[in-house]
Amino acid sequence: MKEHKLHAIQDMDSLYAAQEKIYAREAKGRFQTLRKIAAWILLGGFYLVAWLPWDDRQAILFDLPARQFHILGLTFWPQDFFFLAWLLVIAALALFFFTALAGRVWCGYACPQTVWTEVFVAMERWVEGGRRDQIRLSKMSWKKPERIRKVLAKQALWIAFALWTGFTFVGYFTPIRELGYNILITLSSSEYLLGPWETFWVLFYALATYGNAGFLREQVCLYMCPYARFQSVMFDSNSLIISYDEERGEPRMKGKERKQAGDNAGDCVDCNMCVQVCPTGIDIRDGLQYECITCAACIDICDDVMERHDKPKGLIRYTTENALNHKPSKIWRPRTVIYGILLFCLTLGLALSIGLRSSLDVEVLRDRNAFFRVVDEQHIANVYTLKILNKTESAQRYQIAVSGLEGASVEWVHGQQVAAGEMGTLPIRIVAPTKSLKGFSQTIELRIREIAPQSGGQSVQRETRFFGPEAAR
Ligand code: SF4
Ligand code: SF4
Repeated sequence: MKEHKLHAIQDMDSLYAAQEKIYAREAKGRFQTLRKIAAWILLGGFYLVAWLPWDDRQAILFDLPARQFHILGLTFWPQDFFFLAWLLVIAALALFFFTALAGRVWCGYACPQTVWTEVFVAMERWVEGGRRDQIRLSKMSWKKPERIRKVLAKQALWIAFALWTGFTFVGYFTPIRELGYNILITLSSSEYLLGPWETFWVLFYALATYGNAGFLREQVCLYMCPYARFQSVMFDSNSLIISYDEERGEPRMKGKERKQAGDNAGDCVDCNMCVQVCPTGIDIRDGLQYECITCAACIDICDDVMERHDKPKGLIRYTTENALNHKPSKIWRPRTVIYGILLFCLTLGLALSIGLRSSLDVEVLRDRNAFFRVVDEQHIANVYTLKILNKTESAQRYQIAVSGLEGASVEWVHGQQVAAGEMGTLPIRIVAPTKSLKGFSQTIELRIREIAPQSGGQSVQRETRFFGPEAAR
């Protein structure tokens, strides 16, 4: 019985292959320079924008306790949530558009996983040296001080960078200067000024950065990222991919065999450099694979090799399946045109909606207890409750004009002011001469307008019904 169980466990173990660490060789070239520029811009933006001031507050601050999201000069409220949904639709469409146009360009140049991994790999290279040195170090005994020293130095750098990333991330949700000050005071004295959630999220995000970019690396792209799995449905034979030119490269040969073959040898000198630089450890010469994150390291290194062998560059290059099959490639085809038009319209629509969005939202609720009230022999009144959302950053007063019923006037019951960022519940009474009401009810229009001078005097119109004595019969 015991033996049977042991076999079962051994069988289960065999389902999982032990993951070998990939020691990628560093590649240099035009695409790696482009990727570095993209990383500097993206990471620079992430780490610096959190410190950018705007008027008397942070330029980008997602203030969750106050339920306000400040982005430059704009403030969004939970009621503006559909803008976020709209933005997500645009992001998804952009992914479809750029993938159809330029393949996995997102993965290679802009994905946070790739960008942060690049930084961790650069730190590793800085401390441990290139591929060969790293492999040598990994085989070195732990008793050697060199290994301990280098591993500790690398880990210290990684942890410091991950913590700074966690701190910056939380700095988008709580004022970063205050957070920095609290951390400094906490570190330099026995006073603990950080809140439990701030502490948790700084550590959690630091751990996520360290785990994903330092430890898991390409495993995230290979096994966790859903995009890698469904990207093939966005591709067609005109999509830009990184590909090895088999026609030109084969038969690959090296050394003596190559010399003997002379002109019969393909351009690939079988140096294996394209495999050594690949961060996901694949061989691009085996064809298009979902593991390829389009980092273009194999292009840069192969161009180097070709140059050294006096051969034209581009044995591995950005191309399309059509181009490889000597067919014309089309950038603009129905798929990309439709994605492009939709993307343009949605982006323009979002920009206009944000630009024209009102700082005021009003809902009019009728009093359900009575259709109307008699004021005197000539007048009747209807009672309404206004739910006014003040989306500005200062308290607002409002005025109301009523139209559609001759002689009607509005009376505020408990004031006409709503605090900044609050939803105010303000009852009003509309009084009208009984004789001006035709039939048992009439549609009236309320125009609610901000009267605080700094708000720009935005207004909204709402229709409702006004009931009279006929309604009671
Ligand atoms: S780097 Fe270029 S030449 Fe070297 S093995 Fe790869 S494809 Fe062949
Ligand atoms: S095969 Fe893909 S992932 Fe590997 S080096 Fe080339 S472009 Fe990068």
